[in-house]
Amino acid sequence: MIKKASFVISNNNPGKCPNPDRAEIAFIGRSNVGKSSLINMITGTRDLAKTSAKPGKTQLINHFMIDDRWYLVDLPGYGFAKVNKKVKDGWEAMISTYLTKRENLCGVFILIDSRLEPQGIDLEFLAWCGSEGVPSVLVFTKADKQSKAKTDLNVKAFLKKTKEIFEEEPDYFVTSAENTTGKAELVQFIEELVKE
Ligand code: GDP
Repeated sequence: MIKKASFVISNNNPGKCPNPDRAEIAFIGRSNVGKSSLINMITGTRDLAKTSAKPGKTQLINHFMIDDRWYLVDLPGYGFAKVNKKVKDGWEAMISTYLTKRENLCGVFILIDSRLEPQGIDLEFLAWCGSEGVPSVLVFTKADKQSKAKTDLNVKAFLKKTKEIFEEEPDYFVTSAENTTGKAELVQFIEELVKE
């Protein structure tokens, strides 16, 4: 259980992140996938991560201190339609530097909308993470939005696609920020990760 969560710093320069003196995990996903809602759910806060900021506007790496022990990082979403090439290139440079160079990073949680069939943009990002050895975990979001059968179908289809990327199936969680499905399992997994 997370007891304390507070904002530390936002920046667009991976070199200006806080000293890597404690474990860190990060969240990323397509914009509108439910990332802010998920972060608020697991930290037990209402508005630590700002929900539905204008897509493409918040191109920042956001650090939060959790229980005075580890960092939770909210990374800017990908896949928004309305940004120009310069913004996209800037995002890619910032994110790839952060994900490949951040020495205290123990896990990157990639959010996938459980309502959808496997999406090219998510698979592309995952493939990049695989090729760079980024420690990736999948979090399927918004599971309350459809039947369990439909969620299971989409999750299964996505996991099948990951076989082309990873030798072993990645760890994954099925969640809903609406009714807290998956919260306990996800928080426990994170606590184990940051303990190591
Ligand atoms: P972000 O852009 O990835 O940070 O996504 P947000 O957390 O702002 O969520 C985008 C929209 O999806 C908002 O309208 C949320 O209320 C909604 N949403 C997020 N998570 C869930 C969920 O688990 N269930 C349902 N039903 N809606 C959700």
